Amino acid sequence: MTNSLYHAEHEEFRSSVRGFLDREVVPYFAEWERAGKVPHDFYAKVGELGVFGLRVPAGYGGGGLANSFLYQSVWTEECGRAGVALGGVGAHANLVIPYILANGTDEQKSRWLPDMVAGRCMGAIAMTEPGTGSDLAGMCTGAVRDGEDWVLNGQKTFITGGINADLVIVAARTSTEQDRRKGLSLLVVESHFGGFSRGRNLEKMGQKATDTAELFFDNVRVPGDNLLGEEGNAFAYLAQNLVGERLGIALGAQVSAETALRLTLDYVRERKVFGQPVAQFQNTKFELASCRIEIAAGRALIDRYMVAHEAGELTAPEASMAKVYCTELQARVIDRCLQLHGGYGFMSEYRISKMYTDSRISRIYGGTNEVQRVIIAKSIGL
Ligand SMILES: Cc1cc2nc3c(=O)[nH]c(=O)nc-3n(C[C@H](O)[C@H](O)[C@H](O)COP(=O)(O)OP(=O)(O)OC[C@H]3O[C@@H](n4cnc5c(N)ncnc54)[C@H](O)[C@@H]3O)c2cc1C
Repeated sequence: MTNSLYHAEHEEFRSSVRGFLDREVVPYFAEWERAGKVPHDFYAKVGELGVFGLRVPAGYGGGGLANSFLYQSVWTEECGRAGVALGGVGAHANLVIPYILANGTDEQKSRWLPDMVAGRCMGAIAMTEPGTGSDLAGMCTGAVRDGEDWVLNGQKTFITGGINADLVIVAARTSTEQDRRKGLSLLVVESHFGGFSRGRNLEKMGQKATDTAELFFDNVRVPGDNLLGEEGNAFAYLAQNLVGERLGIALGAQVSAETALRLTLDYVRERKVFGQPVAQFQNTKFELASCRIEIAAGRALIDRYMVAHEAGELTAPEASMAKVYCTELQARVIDRCLQLHGGYGFMSEYRISKMYTDSRISRIYGGTNEVQRVIIAKSIGL
């Protein structure tokens, strides 16, 4: 069955993305995994390809597309197929730039967006703290007014792209409101600000080419005109972008399940056991047929929700359902596919092994799947 979601212009973009990944990413990816990050100047190449500016108005150097989700999806799908997880690109393009676009003043957009679109200035978003992740409203990082400026103190952790970042949108408590959600604001910290420092590039079980940082704020003086949006409104801003973020994670998971099935089909046809290809065992056929059924169901769901999102109609509980459904099907499919590789599936040099560790995070970040179930349960009146 062909995928009717995409039009000719999306397919044209797909072929440039595919060529770009083959040329500029795949040959270097193992080296970046060993280094724990991609080189900063790689981002300028992604910028040149147009990935960062898809939805940014032409006045700030972007492509000015009203609907860019399907183009971003093409990027997600192609990275999944090539087996290259580039979390820093995703955070910058799908989280940080949209926050600035949606909540920045004209002056802030002119100041930051042209370099961000070009990939010269990279952004990260810092919400999670060592003591609080799911319960965002419980954050302790705080800022107090000092004249025109804010003075920021605290610590964040698990920040995607935090090592390479030139600019970090920090969620911080700026007042002690009774309602914990009301006293939070977004402050943009630029990496040259005094008192800002980075801790370790955290070692992870997967997605090793993506840098993940601890960030520290020790009396960082943030100018008043680096407040993003209205004071006290951060919780609402953070919620705005979650639908797209969760649907993006769901799509990445779906593509990775599809890729796992494809490469396992090749493997079981080739590998011989007891004198016959593994593909000949009835167990193999049934296992892979079961994967195929799950993948078809996931694809039907995600395609429908992508159309709804492009039309601005996808609800938060629907995005949560997509995230839970696709990330859990990804886990089941990859696990079954790895089993069919036997011992080779456990060897790091086999792609299925890397897919197993790379994919584990998808049930955790973007809000854990338990938190998604809380949202879904509320939507059915529980
Ligand atoms: C690789 C990676 C990249 C990340 N990138 C970023 C980033 O760029 N920026 C950022 O701000 N954060 C980032 N995060 C943080 C991520 O969003 C959090 O790890 C996640 O939201 C979970 O928070 P936590 O780790 O504190 O877990 P906790 O909140 O401590 O959760 C522990 C367990 O309790 C469960 N739980 C929590 N609440 C409930 C509930 N109400 N009902 C039932 N069970 C519940 C959870 O599901 C989980 O199983 C990243 C994390 C990782 C690992």
